[in-house]
Amino acid sequence: MSQHFDVLIVGVGISGVSAAYYLQERCPEKSYAILENQKSLGGTWRTHTYPGIRSDSDLFTFGYKFKPWSGAPIATADEILKYMNETVSEFGIDKHIRYQHQIVSASWSSSDNVWKLTAENLGTGETLEFTCNFLWMCQGYYRHSEGYTPEWEGMDKFKGQIVHPQTWPDDLDYKGKNVLVIGSGATAATIIPAMAEDCKHITMLQRSPTYFFPGENRNEVADMLRELDVPEEWTHEIVRQKILHDQKIITELAREHPDFAKEELIKGAREYLPEGYDMEKHFTPHYRPWRQRVAFVPDADLFKGITSGKASVVTDEIDSFTEKGVRLKSGETLEADIIITATGFNLSVLGDIDFSIDGEPLSFGERWTYRGIMYSGIPNMAWVFGYLRTSWTMRADLISEFVCRLLKHMDADGMKVCTPRLRDEDQAMPALPFIDPENFNPGYLMRAMHLMPKQGDHQPWIFAQDYYSEKDELPAANLDDGALVFV
Ligand SMILES: Cc1cc2nc3c(=O)[nH]c(=O)nc-3n(C[C@H](O)[C@H](O)[C@H](O)COP(=O)(O)OP(=O)(O)OC[C@H]3O[C@@H](n4cnc5c(N)ncnc54)[C@H](O)[C@@H]3O)c2cc1C
Repeated sequence: MSQHFDVLIVGVGISGVSAAYYLQERCPEKSYAILENQKSLGGTWRTHTYPGIRSDSDLFTFGYKFKPWSGAPIATADEILKYMNETVSEFGIDKHIRYQHQIVSASWSSSDNVWKLTAENLGTGETLEFTCNFLWMCQGYYRHSEGYTPEWEGMDKFKGQIVHPQTWPDDLDYKGKNVLVIGSGATAATIIPAMAEDCKHITMLQRSPTYFFPGENRNEVADMLRELDVPEEWTHEIVRQKILHDQKIITELAREHPDFAKEELIKGAREYLPEGYDMEKHFTPHYRPWRQRVAFVPDADLFKGITSGKASVVTDEIDSFTEKGVRLKSGETLEADIIITATGFNLSVLGDIDFSIDGEPLSFGERWTYRGIMYSGIPNMAWVFGYLRTSWTMRADLISEFVCRLLKHMDADGMKVCTPRLRDEDQAMPALPFIDPENFNPGYLMRAMHLMPKQGDHQPWIFAQDYYSEKDELPAANLDDGALVFV
């Protein structure tokens, strides 16, 4: 027998908890449940267990507006999980979560005006049916079961162990071993200092350099306010606003004076590296500073590892794997006992769920995005895709507020269904990629852009990826501009 809820939330990571909080606060009369395939909450912060796993955003903005953060800005996965667990129990969200529920299919029925979800209970093997009026997809943006590893020639010949950070073996023994990390993003920058002490040597192999921003893991304003015994809620809000203000200035500076911003970032790294270190080759990126998230390196730990001689950087391309390691295009070879492929993830559009509308399979790549939240022609559904430069959560919270406003608007007018549809004036819009590659271009997005919905050239069909405009636009967005069709 199927169970009915006004709202079903899929996923209990950062976004699902935000959705549940706002839903019960703004629409307390709505019944809801959160369906999550894992055994506990956390999403990203539960999946990733590699050494040193930590945020690269500060927790004042990665944390929720409604739940003060009381620790250092950069937090470990365990600290984030503790914060999330406290949040769900403090606000009674935990009672609504159903763990080990894998959503397999979701189909909209126009005759009943409901989404019908099929879930597999991973504990019992049972198949369960749910229905809801509104479906709130908080399932993240990448496949949790398996990370992305490129195919290199000869990988099967390698006699050592190949590990992807997303599926880290609990018993991986790297003590006294030679380790090679492929990649130089935030994950590599976290793993390397965390493992360096125990390995014989650890090498970061990168095709091209990345920007890093070294700094102390503390926030001066927070420290001062805490010393003055200012209430935690105030400290949280003031520090959030200060960080957002500073980030805005830095982003504008990077856009307007990219060469200056680039030089400043490189200078920051140079300070921690030995005299005569080849900065040009290893730490001078070819892209503009704002196009990928700049990886924060707390307490410059990555650079300290390089200076101590325990870690090193090689900038080259892999030609093939060998029995003992990799051969590079330059002809050099690197030997390793363990190779870690910090090469990113596989983007997953809507949790690999089979979606259909009245029996017709849905292909999201053919749809238009409504403000980066809903899709043309898809009724009563929102998807949380957060910010890539600003903390993800800042957008999750904005979307939560938007969805609650939409639900109240529907209730006030007695409407059951809300479907974004192109109006006459939208028909000739150019189809632009979901994320503008000029704005942000990491590999995982570039590989899968064709699976994502398109955006247009005017609102409400734009996904701006810009907190500073959306913070005013989303709360004021006109729900009666004709682009949302209510029935
Ligand atoms: C290693 C790493 C570090 C990151 N660091 C930062 C950072 O510092 N700052 C930042 O802003 N962003 C960061 N990000 C991006 C990060 O993913 C988001 O910030 C955020 O945690 C995503 O939260 P979410 O709730 O939207 O999705 P997720 O954390 O992905 O959670 C989604 C949940 O939905 C569940 N789920 C998925 N499909 C189904 C299904 N079919 N049925 C049932 N359940 C399902 C998943 O198991 C998961 O528990 C990082 C990402 C990674 C991988």
